[in-house]
Amino acid sequence: MAIQSVGVIGAGQMGNGIAHVFALAGYDVLMTDISREALDKAVAQIDHNLERQVSRGKVSAEDKAAAMRRITTTMTLSDLGKTDLIIEAATERETVKQAIFEDLLPHLKPETILTSNTSSISITRLASRTDRPERFMGFHFMNPVPVMQLVELIRGIATNEETYKALVEVVEKIGKTSASAEDFPAFIVNRILMPMINEAVYTLYEGVGSVKSIDQSMKLGANHPMGPLELADFIGLDTCLAIMNVLHEGLADTKYRPCPLLVKYVEAGWLGRKTGRGFYDYSGEEPVPTR
Ligand code: NAD
Repeated sequence: MAIQSVGVIGAGQMGNGIAHVFALAGYDVLMTDISREALDKAVAQIDHNLERQVSRGKVSAEDKAAAMRRITTTMTLSDLGKTDLIIEAATERETVKQAIFEDLLPHLKPETILTSNTSSISITRLASRTDRPERFMGFHFMNPVPVMQLVELIRGIATNEETYKALVEVVEKIGKTSASAEDFPAFIVNRILMPMINEAVYTLYEGVGSVKSIDQSMKLGANHPMGPLELADFIGLDTCLAIMNVLHEGLADTKYRPCPLLVKYVEAGWLGRKTGRGFYDYSGEEPVPTR
């Protein structure tokens, strides 16, 4: 089946990036969210990010205008039933994702491929609650989507070859590179990245270093483009904690214990850039370390 239209569920930082790259590659994109404000913000953000690409000479003004015309939004989940490929990018909570699929399933075409951009939740388990585990896959984009080259493709135990091949083709069409990962907690990228971020939070918690010294150490000492705490704020501390919990529960190894300081920040609502405060304070011109 030729994939022409894409339904994106969740218009947060990942949803808007996904809509951006698919519209630019020529797909019709229908985006939904439970928040009208999130949808409006996402469209404005896509416009802003595309404009930046235009000013850098990476995208032509005509291609930007065409991409913007291909993006539409709706508050009614069932409207996405007519699309050929669903990419769920809502909040990283299994009950949220399950409820979305449950509400959406009766409206889907039988051939539509269902995917989740989850960072860590079992694809096999999410798929098993749907009517099409053979056409269900993990479709894991990296943040920020328009910039990052990799897409992880995760097959559940029941995913068929046709679905996998269809997604490999889609990844090529949007100009990115896929890596195949098995369905184990947090897959490849986050299995390696999140314990490092969690360890950076422990390093802060135990007073080994300040926010500034930890980030500077990893940038200048390990050549990382961003420090781990800066990166945690960028990803969202709620998402980081959710992934650590999945690793901890799924692999039953104490080495994945989420740092109590990370838990405390999330309890405080200090979720990083998206709430204006995390390991840095984003209220001024420049981010200021908070510890
Ligand atoms: P976010 O908090 O920026 O956005 C989530 C959006 O989902 C919000 O706009 C929220 O209103 C919406 N939402 C919640 N419940 C919904 C529902 N029932 N129906 C429709 N929309 C709903 O989160 P994000 O960072 O964009 O993450 C989204 C997904 O992408 C998560 O599964 C996350 O693990 C994954 N992911 C995140 C990153 C990252 O760096 N942040 C990277 C890769 C994958």
